[in-house]
Amino acid sequence: MEEYPEQRLKDKVILITGAGSGIGKASAIRMAKEGAKIIVNDIDQEKIDEVVNIIKGFGGEAFGYRADVTKKEEVVAMVEAAHEKYGRIDVLFANAGIADYAKFVRMKESFWDHMFEVNTKGVFLVTQAVVKKMLKYKVPDDQLRGKIIITSSRAGKDGQEELSAYSASKAALIQLKTALAKELGPKRITVNAICPGTILTPIYGKDVTRENIAGIDGKVALNIKQGVGDPEDVAGVVAFLASKDSDFITGQAINVCGGTIFH
Ligand code: NAP
Repeated sequence: MEEYPEQRLKDKVILITGAGSGIGKASAIRMAKEGAKIIVNDIDQEKIDEVVNIIKGFGGEAFGYRADVTKKEEVVAMVEAAHEKYGRIDVLFANAGIADYAKFVRMKESFWDHMFEVNTKGVFLVTQAVVKKMLKYKVPDDQLRGKIIITSSRAGKDGQEELSAYSASKAALIQLKTALAKELGPKRITVNAICPGTILTPIYGKDVTRENIAGIDGKVALNIKQGVGDPEDVAGVVAFLASKDSDFITGQAINVCGGTIFH
């Protein structure tokens, strides 16, 4: 595409979960523009179709697949379908997630369980299904077998009030990333996480605007966009982590948060 003449991701096959909206959608579009073939996963077929149409509309390559990341059979079938279609998955962006607020003392057990089911177990299921395949790929000794990128959150490093279940579910992903980077590094698979701050997406509700979520972070170091990032700000970092430019980075949790935390 003219917008990205370097085509860093040319012919790379990239599976993105939760790609029907927000950060996943912006990353699907960005990486398709950089030449990747995108497997667009979401739980909602209409949102998948919209993203696939956008990508095909600019001459990109995309394949939509509806699956609930909490259902092992659906996840395994999706990974099989991706291999039937493209023969491999070079990069997994395990991004699907949910968020919701609750005061800790009033939180129902089902609320806690659901948060972990989607945000933590969902990443486990998708990553395991993809890594099982990646380990079988034959690649030259000086090349990576694959890359895993996991969407954690700033809240996974710096827990937020009334987001205790969400913060804990995302913190687990940061240590999953570290453990997997160590376990899979010898097999030449990199594993990194991103920790977005406040990003303007429908996760905050359909009527969210920059104005009505600005200020929830207090003081921000970077004085642009009122401290609220756009999905495209995260997509650029994801594209970098998916590209060869980041081959020597593994086991990191990269903040994309406009300078709201520094660890
Ligand atoms: P989003 O716009 O709501 O996108 C998430 C997508 O994942 C939605 O289309 C959602 O569908 C889908 N999804 C939910 N459950 C799923 C499941 N079981 N299987 C497959 N897909 C499922 O939210 P976003 O802000 O882009 O969030 C993407 C990721 O970034 C999440 O992991 C989130 O926790 C993380 N994050 C976001 C922010 C932020 O400020 N936006 C900050 C830090 C981290 P439904 O809409 O039907 O649920």
